[in-house]
Amino acid sequence: MKKLHSYTRAYKKISEFRRDAVSGEWILLVEERHLRPGARDLPEPKKRKLIPKKTCLFENPQKHGSGPPILWHPHPSESASQNAKDWFVQVVANKYPAVVPHHICPKDTRYGPYLSRDGIGFHEVIITRDHERTIADMTTAEVDVLVRTYQERYVSIENEPCIKYILIFHNHGERAGASITHPHSQLIALPIIPPDVKRSLRGSEKYFQKHNTCAHCAELAFEKKQKKRIIYTNKKFTVLAPFASRVSFEIRIFPNKHASHFEVIGKEERMFLADALRVTMKKLQKGISDPDYNFFIHTAPAQSDGVDYYHWHLEILPRISTWAGVELGTGIEVVAFLPEETAGILRKIKAYYGASSA
Ligand SMILES: [Zn+2]
Ligand SMILES: [Zn+2]
Repeated sequence: MKKLHSYTRAYKKISEFRRDAVSGEWILLVEERHLRPGARDLPEPKKRKLIPKKTCLFENPQKHGSGPPILWHPHPSESASQNAKDWFVQVVANKYPAVVPHHICPKDTRYGPYLSRDGIGFHEVIITRDHERTIADMTTAEVDVLVRTYQERYVSIENEPCIKYILIFHNHGERAGASITHPHSQLIALPIIPPDVKRSLRGSEKYFQKHNTCAHCAELAFEKKQKKRIIYTNKKFTVLAPFASRVSFEIRIFPNKHASHFEVIGKEERMFLADALRVTMKKLQKGISDPDYNFFIHTAPAQSDGVDYYHWHLEILPRISTWAGVELGTGIEVVAFLPEETAGILRKIKAYYGASSA
């Protein structure tokens, strides 16, 4: 056997690889004092640079050529209003879509060793009325209207031909790719199942076959016993920092009751989801200086059967760090904040409604 370098004989642990139970992927957590300088820098608590209201395209989307709303809801306090001018949430087609609607499913084309398919689908923008108030600043009833809109758009698109997957997501801040600062979410319906979702489905199925239980249900049961990585719970949802967090301050929101499809949640459960989402966003805003983030709902593919092993959830990925060589070359982020630390920090943050409440 080749002789080991002398410095490899003994070592002191400074980092830890952790593997996710579902994706099977590894991440690397590095102890604070061994990180490169700046790796643990939190975003500066500063006022965000907002596009002025005057030039904001989302103040009145119709005036800016968006066409009538595909769907709208009034503010929950005026829930009876029939006047579209009273919109609190409205959905419009994305003016710069990544995919476009279709009437017939396109055929795949062979091109040498490759395959191509036309980019068909739906790409919508879900806008909330206020120019500045983000989910963190909303009431639970307001967030519920937003989540209801997600659900209703999902349900009306899922039966469209050739749609395989519907992703609902939200970008907050420049680093998260939000080009318009006015708060909005998006829905993109695709003719393929995205690779990340495919991996999750496969991982969940494999775990189920091996252990005869859902991987996320096992994760939830373990985390509830351990209590180290739980951030918040209500009657129907659990918010936690995943054991194998892919980025610092990663958060996931799980329904306590096993279900594979997000869109079938009932009214009561939806209100608890709105509560969990609002509280989580408030904790992030107050506890980590309002970081840029992306969140998205991972649910089973549209109209899919036989995916009972899958447990839908919401993933929140704050965009604090910059990917350098290690990250780009390996796909593994060097995570600077332990999930246990994340949960500890965020658990303590009070998340009452109101911007200035303690
Ligand atoms: Zn605006
Ligand atoms: Zn489950």
